[in-house]
Amino acid sequence: MNITLKVSKNTQEKMIEYFQDKKRPKTPPYAVFQADEADTVVTLYESGKVVFQGISADIDAAMWKQMEQNLNPGKKVEEKKAGEKKKDKKETFVDPKIYHSSSIGSDEVGTGDYFGPIVVTASFVAKENIPFLEELGVKDSKKMSDEQIMEIVPKIIQKIPYQSMILNNHEYNEKYSEDINMNKIKAILHNKVLLKMTKQNVNYEYIIVDEFAKSYIYFNYLRKVPEVVRNITFLTKGEDKSLAVACASLISRYIFIKEFDKLSQSLGISLPKGAGVKVDEVGRQIVEKYGFEKLKEVAKLNFKNTEKIKNQKDPS
Ligand code: MG
Repeated sequence: MNITLKVSKNTQEKMIEYFQDKKRPKTPPYAVFQADEADTVVTLYESGKVVFQGISADIDAAMWKQMEQNLNPGKKVEEKKAGEKKKDKKETFVDPKIYHSSSIGSDEVGTGDYFGPIVVTASFVAKENIPFLEELGVKDSKKMSDEQIMEIVPKIIQKIPYQSMILNNHEYNEKYSEDINMNKIKAILHNKVLLKMTKQNVNYEYIIVDEFAKSYIYFNYLRKVPEVVRNITFLTKGEDKSLAVACASLISRYIFIKEFDKLSQSLGISLPKGAGVKVDEVGRQIVEKYGFEKLKEVAKLNFKNTEKIKNQKDPS
């Protein structure tokens, strides 16, 4: 085990004092000292980093972490464990005021998938339902597999009010033109589900949208829409910061998976998600089996995949 802590000057001084008699004769480059504490090797570097190595490194590291916290109250101790999966460098800041509030949240799915519809959902999570959702593991919505989603979402929707919209490919292909892009479609759909949700007489403190465009751009997309939900808090990684967004994301995915399976079944071809080479391959199969027109019903034609499918079909 290998644990690294960053400690302040005052802790460093305590360590120098404490390890005085345990120091090794040799000091590695850039180190202040290297010492043995039972079977842990402790190295303090000039940078303030301390490395604990050995089978009980965690115990020694925990002790000095405590010291650092006691001497520097309120300061967050930087800690790294080797062998541990690297987390996102920037930890997502979760605002407790928002997290613990009664909120409406919205999120969409399917916008990066060539096959299948776009699904947008708004859900309302009352404060009182937060423990129930935490219990279900909704907090880690991103990490959930399709199987987990199929199991968990029926439980969620028994308690959590929501509004969803499905934009099928036929409608999408009609809507998508020079004048309208994916983000505008998203904005219009988010606004629709949010309107329905706010009219459902729910007592919310925040409306949170998983941010896909800056707010002024979002509202610019909606400038010709007669009724617009305005008081929105846009948050990136919204599903980590609000359970309402997390629920909206899970419900959207649930509906998407079902629609996607239906589509696969109706074609007799198992559709791949995303927009990679496998998608091109399957697209070609569809064209061979049903003709090019069929893609209008099952795929988002403005994606680059369409050209690739056409070219693959006709190599001349
Ligand atoms: Mg999103």
